Amino acid sequence: MSDSVRSSAELLAHLGLNTHRITSIRQPAFAYKAPQHFITRITPNNPHDPLLKQILPVPDELITAPDFVSDPVGDFQNNPQPSLIHKYHGRVLLIASPKCDIHCRYCFRRHFPYEAHANQRHWQAALQTIAADNSLHEVILSGGDPMSLSEAALLKLSQQIEEIDHIRTLRIHSRTPVVAPQQAAQTQWLEWVKRSRLNLVIVVHCNHANELSPESAHLFQIYRQANITLLNQSVLLKAVNDSLEALNALSHKLFAQGVLPYYLHQLDKVQGAIHFEVSNQEALQLHQALRASLPGYLVPKLVREIAGEPYKTPL
Ligand code: SF4
Repeated sequence: MSDSVRSSAELLAHLGLNTHRITSIRQPAFAYKAPQHFITRITPNNPHDPLLKQILPVPDELITAPDFVSDPVGDFQNNPQPSLIHKYHGRVLLIASPKCDIHCRYCFRRHFPYEAHANQRHWQAALQTIAADNSLHEVILSGGDPMSLSEAALLKLSQQIEEIDHIRTLRIHSRTPVVAPQQAAQTQWLEWVKRSRLNLVIVVHCNHANELSPESAHLFQIYRQANITLLNQSVLLKAVNDSLEALNALSHKLFAQGVLPYYLHQLDKVQGAIHFEVSNQEALQLHQALRASLPGYLVPKLVREIAGEPYKTPL
């Protein structure tokens, strides 16, 4: 993205933080990347800002532990062919794009070999596999971020999926509507959505109420007018959203923007993200407190993905 900030030094200077003695990794293996819109949501001069914590490469990323690995959720073992991940009954995940508009430092796919998988030349074979399997009724577009595709590519892929009779639902997992809403308002694709026979679901990824903006509210309104079901998944992250106050505010603001809280994930133990870990005990206490303070429809399910399990495991 042309308006992305590509250097953490530039980010710290922009936010007035270069005098705060924050150490960042200048050239991290998982490159730094954040769009301008997301950066405008960060409070300047606050080294503890919960949005800043999600994008700043810090030396803690270099800490290793035996249970923090490169493929924490078993993607590589459930990858029957390039671009496809098939773990759960009835649905299959297509890695539609190698790119994201933002690089979240806790990303469970930060070591994923996208170059071997997320290439449009694999789509035809992947679609043939989906067409040959009548047990599938849902395709999930993931990545990277599917919304980082060009509108023409997203439209073409969506239409090809619609042509497969036994597919009833197209689900898109995307962080773009929150971090770069202007990028996710794809007019022609939305016109197709309105005419499509498919059920459309967008699962956005938002971790903190401050990420939600007037622009995201406007976009979600457009999505809802196109009859798209809107859900949210968050990751429970230390020093970002590991408080009752933060999780409460997130659920309320999501609902105010027309999005229902769906999942609160325990961190996938990916190498480089150990400093974001919240213990199971703390997570359960927080979730219990959340249940006591919110109506049931605003309480996300607290889950962990365990490699090899047939569904996300509730804590
Ligand atoms: S947007 Fe999703 S896939 Fe992309 S870096 Fe963030 S968590 Fe990972």
